[in-house]
Amino acid sequence: MRYQRPKGTQDILPDVAPRWRMVENTFREVCRRFDFGEIRTPIFEDTDLFVRSVGAETDIVSKEMYTFEDKGGRSQTLRAEGTAPTVRAFLEENLQGQDRERLVKLYYIAPIFRQDKPQAGRYRQHHQAGIEAIGSPEPAVDAEVISLALTFFEAIGIKGTRLLVNSVGCPACAPSLVDELKASVADSVGSMCRDCQRRYETNTLRLLDCKNEVCRQVTDGAPKMLDLLCGECEAHFDGLREHLEALGIAYEIDPRIVRGLDYYTKTAFEFRHDALGAQDSIGGGGRYDGLVEQCGGPSIPGVGLGTGIERVLLVREALGLADEEQPREGSFIVAIGDEAWLPAYRLLHDLRRAGVKAEIDYRRRSMRAQMRYADAQGYLNAVLLGGDEIAKGVATVRDMLSGEQEEVALDGLAAHLKGE
Ligand SMILES: [Zn+2]
Ligand SMILES: [Zn+2]
Repeated sequence: MRYQRPKGTQDILPDVAPRWRMVENTFREVCRRFDFGEIRTPIFEDTDLFVRSVGAETDIVSKEMYTFEDKGGRSQTLRAEGTAPTVRAFLEENLQGQDRERLVKLYYIAPIFRQDKPQAGRYRQHHQAGIEAIGSPEPAVDAEVISLALTFFEAIGIKGTRLLVNSVGCPACAPSLVDELKASVADSVGSMCRDCQRRYETNTLRLLDCKNEVCRQVTDGAPKMLDLLCGECEAHFDGLREHLEALGIAYEIDPRIVRGLDYYTKTAFEFRHDALGAQDSIGGGGRYDGLVEQCGGPSIPGVGLGTGIERVLLVREALGLADEEQPREGSFIVAIGDEAWLPAYRLLHDLRRAGVKAEIDYRRRSMRAQMRYADAQGYLNAVLLGGDEIAKGVATVRDMLSGEQEEVALDGLAAHLKGE
């Protein structure tokens, strides 16, 4: 019996892990610059948190969650998205303290679990880098969230990201779009895809972001939320545009950006990259002014975004940014003869404690075999230790590229190898 990893998951191996680390470290660094603090929430939550916040009729909740009953009979769900757990912690840990208008800025890098149809760039466990800014209704904060994402994309070398923005209104004005949308497509629902026929009643706004060509034709003439916004939402959208323009951020207004989650209000946005083909989204987010209240707290506004690390890595690959050569590094300790084995083994550990990346051949093969191995594994140099060296208190350091050799005193070896 050979086990396989679950469908839609992947093993991230040592040769690829450095790309992940680079992306994650850059995200952390950009969040530090924007003064966001890290939050790590549990990998599972009460199922009800996702149902209440994301919405029972959304695809995520109705079809895609990993839900299980624990031994106490409670329904639990693996993290299905990043915002609801963050808001739950924001309330439970009272992160605002006494100041109900204080802006709390949080970021996370976490796996997200959804039992989606596996396809290119979509995983059942994918990884998201996200931020949430909770406590301010100001459009300047929406623009800041967008600016952080663009700064991040730029910092990892991704050029050509497109920003699409829209407003999905608020509880005062959004229902009118649902009504008008229903009325405008009523005669053609029968010709739309199965998903849209189901969504027509339960999740009407999502008719707008269906990728199906027939569905798009049906909704081409549909009313636009931007024409139906109430005064407050209209002013907010103008404020967003004003702040994006002040930062020189280019954007397109796209009335089809509605996002799949129930909690969005006002600003909705998405980042796309042409290098990705059909699944071209590399992140997105929006404002959720009602979510804190929906999660059992007071009325506190918020805005956030998430970007998929797998997608970001795919874009970097497509742009030829992924295969920069790993520089040679580290020392391979070569013990010459049996009497040198234990001294070499001790030297190996002394060097590691002193901060040098070092390795040895536990199979104790011939010196030639060890040198070939050290070269193939990409070590910068080999440190040869035999009876002569031990007697003199030195090691012979051989540069793997040039073949040049020099004797270095053992007591200064670590400093020498570190280039000090
Ligand atoms: Zn409104
Ligand atoms: Zn459709």
